[in-house]
Amino acid sequence: MKIAVYPGSFDPITCGHLDVIKRAAKIVDVLIIGVLNNSSKKSLFTPEERVELIERVVKDIPNVKVESFSGLTVDFAKERNATVLVRGLRAVTDFEYELQIAQTNHKLNPDIDTIFFTTSVEYAYLSSSIAKEVASFGGSVQGLLPEEIIDTVFEKLNVKGRK
Ligand code: ADP
Repeated sequence: MKIAVYPGSFDPITCGHLDVIKRAAKIVDVLIIGVLNNSSKKSLFTPEERVELIERVVKDIPNVKVESFSGLTVDFAKERNATVLVRGLRAVTDFEYELQIAQTNHKLNPDIDTIFFTTSVEYAYLSSSIAKEVASFGGSVQGLLPEEIIDTVFEKLNVKGRK
């Protein structure tokens, strides 16, 4: 059984993340979305809230699970018997950082490999930060954030936003 972990901040999940999730879920048996609980990174949503938002969005994909974790990604993957890490690549700017993480993780645990999904072009510019920026000014986040979470994001930002 091929188990993969897709680690990230997901603050909050975007349509770009969801695109990677759907594609990865088709090629592994179980995909565990690992929400990194990184207290040094300032986030809009708590790890528990981020897990709940993702669960809402992936509820119809049967082989996807969502959990939060802290510590090393490779340790979390090993605990879950995962041998694959999933990451997404948007632009060249992602490449150097992602390469560094993948190589470090492989050094820490040679049994675990990282596979990359190149972004679908419509999401190439999209990040959680960009979506939050647009939402914070009340702009439309349709197509940036999954439908199921849009109201919650506006509520959290205390903004009366356009859908
Ligand atoms: P992190 O803080 O670990 O980078 P993110 O939630 O920002 O967490 O991203 C998690 C992963 O999803 C990263 O590999 C990132 O490159 C990928 N990703 C983010 N946005 C997109 C997108 N629009 N298309 C494809 N991959 C994406």
